[in-house]
Amino acid sequence: MPATISSNSPSPKPEHLDLLTHTSILRHHVAAQMGSAPLSIQSVPGKGFASMTERTSVKDYLDHHADRFDAELFEFLRMPSISTDPVYAADTRKTAEWVADRARAAGFADVGLIETPLHPVVYGRWESSNERPTLLIYGHYDVQPVDPVDLWESDPFEPTEREGKIYARGASDMKMNLLAILQGIEALAQTKGDLPINVILLFEGEEEIGSPNLPKVVADYAGQLKSDVIMSGDGGMMGIGRPALSLGLKGLVGCQVDLTTSSTDLHSGGYGAAVPNAVRAIAELAASFHNPDGSVAIEGFYDDVIPLTEEERADIAAVDEQSDEKFMAEAGVTAILGEPGYTVKELRWTRPTIDFNGIWGGFTGEGSKTVTPAQAHLKITSRLVPGQRPDKILKLIEAHIAKHTPVGASIEVVPGKGSANPFRLPKDSPGLAEAAVVLERIFGTPPGFVRSGGTVPITDVFTEILGIGPVTIGFGLPGSRAHAPNEWIRPEEVEISRLAYAEYFDTLGG
Ligand SMILES: [Zn+2]
Repeated sequence: MPATISSNSPSPKPEHLDLLTHTSILRHHVAAQMGSAPLSIQSVPGKGFASMTERTSVKDYLDHHADRFDAELFEFLRMPSISTDPVYAADTRKTAEWVADRARAAGFADVGLIETPLHPVVYGRWESSNERPTLLIYGHYDVQPVDPVDLWESDPFEPTEREGKIYARGASDMKMNLLAILQGIEALAQTKGDLPINVILLFEGEEEIGSPNLPKVVADYAGQLKSDVIMSGDGGMMGIGRPALSLGLKGLVGCQVDLTTSSTDLHSGGYGAAVPNAVRAIAELAASFHNPDGSVAIEGFYDDVIPLTEEERADIAAVDEQSDEKFMAEAGVTAILGEPGYTVKELRWTRPTIDFNGIWGGFTGEGSKTVTPAQAHLKITSRLVPGQRPDKILKLIEAHIAKHTPVGASIEVVPGKGSANPFRLPKDSPGLAEAAVVLERIFGTPPGFVRSGGTVPITDVFTEILGIGPVTIGFGLPGSRAHAPNEWIRPEEVEISRLAYAEYFDTLGG
């Protein structure tokens, strides 16, 4: 799950454009490393496992190897791959190498690291047959920092079982899912003798810092990443036994408004009656952005919004979430205020916003000061929905400000550092129907088609560059404290995630 948005800083061209060359370098490197400090990933039984024993199903294979798979998970969770902290840069790289090694052990022939200016991307390719569909799997091996560390009840990097849960940083977001993908692939291949699909792995180490380098990697390797289905493992469930498939996320754009009404602060007695006041001016400007009914008053703001279809509205209504009363109690509000004509869930998941994040100017200290302020400021962000684009919305905000600039004020608009496109996964997207079938079969209940008002900059990158959006399948539970102290997973989801991924990959093979 996403970190906060960060700017997409331009990245220099990767030095290792030739993956094969780099792969062989990595192999040497890993081989050398294994000589001195062996990784504990064991080699898997040779092909033909199924015929050598009575165990013929993926489930049997997973059961038979559960201890080894669990030990691998604990080993993975012990690695402090905190992407934001330079102190952990070497650990983050070691984690990438561990993941690459695990992919190799699962049966991937071509595995390597794609270098970026920061943390490497683990790339893997399994060619089973060019008659079969190709699946690109996205994930991330990095984790959030552990601060405040004294709120952890056990060492964040020593997975600890307590009362039916396993506590460790990155367990829910998303090391359980990432490893289960590889273990599921191993189980499927070992049981069937080969994979029923071609698979490309793309596991980055910078998701928790906003994926600054991944868009360039995807663009540079677009030819090699061509696929029929894209799956992301960076997701979760709606609750215990309640799977979810994500159909949309909001985008984001923002700016700061710096407003000036005089060359200096003025005496309110000597000047106030006869000159503009910066604080009053910014308040007037701020008040112009919304209509009394809660809708946004910027001209053209809704023009590109793709309207919800009846089916989409039905899907949203069908997601069994909290009542409006519970939502209001949780937020501590006494009223619902949004565009008229939409339910709370529709507003939160599918309608665009203009939010003021801060406003200041003049004297804000204790006591009073009879000043007519010269300057005032307003921070604005806008959550975008499918159809809208950050650049265009920023232009509309600027045009609105120009039109509503109060008399005697001059205004500078400073664009925010990061922006992100919204993401929309149409219901007929490749791989989505198969995911729904498999999740329903495994959990005995159909997945909820959910959306989120949050922003994950990378999701739309696949749609933009590769032409299809990712189907997100993940097994962390709500409340699992991703990004917070005492992050946890449950052994039940650990077990079911391996089977679910294997069955999904099997189903994609037809
Ligand atoms: Zn994540």
